[in-house]
Amino acid sequence: MSTTLPAGWVSGAAFVATGAQHTVIDPATDRPVAYMALATAADVDAAVAVARAALPDWAGATPGERSTVLGRLARLIERDSDAFAAEEVSQTGKPIRLATEFDLPGAVDNTDFFAGIARNLEGKASAEYSADHTSSIRREAIGVVASITPWNYPLGMAVWKVMPALAAGCTVVLKPAELTPLTTISLAALATEAGVPNGVLNVLTGTGAEVGAHLAGHRGVDVVTFTGSTGVGRRVMAAAATNGTRVQLELGGKAPFVVFDDADLTAAVHGAVAGSLINAGQDCTAATRAIVARDLYDDFVAGVGELMARVRVGDPSDPATDMGPLISRAHRDKVAAMVARATDSGIRAVTGGSVPDGPGAYYPPTLLADVGEDAEVYRDEVFGPVLTVSAFDDDDDAIRRANDTDFGLAASAWTRDVYRAQRAGREIHAGCVWINDHIPIVSEMPHGGFGASGFGKDMSAYSLDEYLSVKHVMSDITGVAHKDWHRTVFT
Ligand code: NAD
Repeated sequence: MSTTLPAGWVSGAAFVATGAQHTVIDPATDRPVAYMALATAADVDAAVAVARAALPDWAGATPGERSTVLGRLARLIERDSDAFAAEEVSQTGKPIRLATEFDLPGAVDNTDFFAGIARNLEGKASAEYSADHTSSIRREAIGVVASITPWNYPLGMAVWKVMPALAAGCTVVLKPAELTPLTTISLAALATEAGVPNGVLNVLTGTGAEVGAHLAGHRGVDVVTFTGSTGVGRRVMAAAATNGTRVQLELGGKAPFVVFDDADLTAAVHGAVAGSLINAGQDCTAATRAIVARDLYDDFVAGVGELMARVRVGDPSDPATDMGPLISRAHRDKVAAMVARATDSGIRAVTGGSVPDGPGAYYPPTLLADVGEDAEVYRDEVFGPVLTVSAFDDDDDAIRRANDTDFGLAASAWTRDVYRAQRAGREIHAGCVWINDHIPIVSEMPHGGFGASGFGKDMSAYSLDEYLSVKHVMSDITGVAHKDWHRTVFT
């Protein structure tokens, strides 16, 4: 059943915009889920002004006060988990099991983590680095944060941006992806219920071209935190650069999945299927390039092909479903066209590779074998349930292939040899290297990439640095009017 929704949540209340009408579509059925009017550039100006006005009180609250509010918000997300999960399924098509067992517990845990760390913002201890002064470091809220998020984990990505910002004492204007605004608006409404003061967390839906671009280039914001594609990330950075505004960019990925010849083959096969098909492969860290020791290659291809063929694709609201549709028909067609170009060029589709009949943006789990290093499907982000496999001959070749990409977000290495594992952890150029697993994350550890995958971190204490300014306060401790160093200027 579809409803008409506000275009956002500004200053603690539902926000009705005057922009174009927008329909949120359920990608499993192609049916409307909700209607809303999109925000405009003028609405962005209003929201940024609201966030600026709310900044002094929120930044001036004690860490303990902010921690209490975030802790309450965590409990409210937990209370409304089922509703959030259903809303997430309706707008993304992700399986309900993934939403209830991965997305929602992750959102609650992340909020709890930042509620805790909100009380731990101190700088380094003060000390005398000159005989005449005491120096201390203050870590202060950077100010107004503009956040722009993608559609693959709408609630999760909003939580990753909002919670460290609020913990640090910043105020936020967030634009969710236009395909998936619902859970972000619900989160902002819950924040008000939890006691986040009006104006501290503002959500505006709108297009990337209008609202996103205006927000990224807004002179009233102090940092832009962005998760999305590499191309748009670079445009966001260019817009922010016009004001010299700081940016944090979490961009695309092309994660290698390296299977050495001593690996536990069954574990690697299971890991490859789960790691490549999570969220229908629409995960920036998803396993995309399996690089497998030649001795294990045929068995790996056979094992992954068989397991992928058993994955239950269907209605995302059914708890038995493993994989739902992709985010939209447009995106599904992009994925299908990329796979078609691969198979037309002679690459072998072991399983999947064709668009099913019927409604919804469905695409099957797809394994492409014998993929050359120049293939588009090997080099570019597909962002769908597609895994490529290629063979390597020795360890140097494996590491070289793993690193032969512009991206550097995530990778995994599968081996029972501790030295190989150590080498992979050291030499693979990615923000996260898993050993004998692929995908798990924890709130305490940083997430963020290198190279074309961006820079800066989400989650963990590291992400707080994106939202804090470091200030040096240097105080004279002598009380002497005419100091020694003055004599270098006048005697
Ligand atoms: P996208 O880049 O198309 O859109 C992301 C957001 O940017 C959306 O809110 C969109 O409206 C907005 N936007 C579009 N044009 C804009 C502009 N000119 N100025 C400002 N904002 C603009 O990405 P997507 O398709 O929503 O998401 C998929 C991409 O996100 C993939 O590339 C994926 O790898 C990446 N991603 C990365 C991470 C990570 O942590 N590194 C996590 C999730 C997704």
